[in-house]
Amino acid sequence: MTIYRKWYCSCRGKPLELTAVETVEDEPVEPTCERCGASPSSDPRHTISYRDVDNPDD
Ligand SMILES: [Zn+2]
Repeated sequence: MTIYRKWYCSCRGKPLELTAVETVEDEPVEPTCERCGASPSSDPRHTISYRDVDNPDD
């Protein structure tokens, strides 16, 4: 079982789940909000939140 982290941005009220964009580089992939551009390390308006989820299928 694996625990993975889901990120959300609530810049427009209702939290929107963020999706990480894969890159070809070996750089860390960070989820970014499509609507306001916030990410876990760049969250000027404090709209980013997260939830740890168990994945029983893993
Ligand atoms: Zn946002």
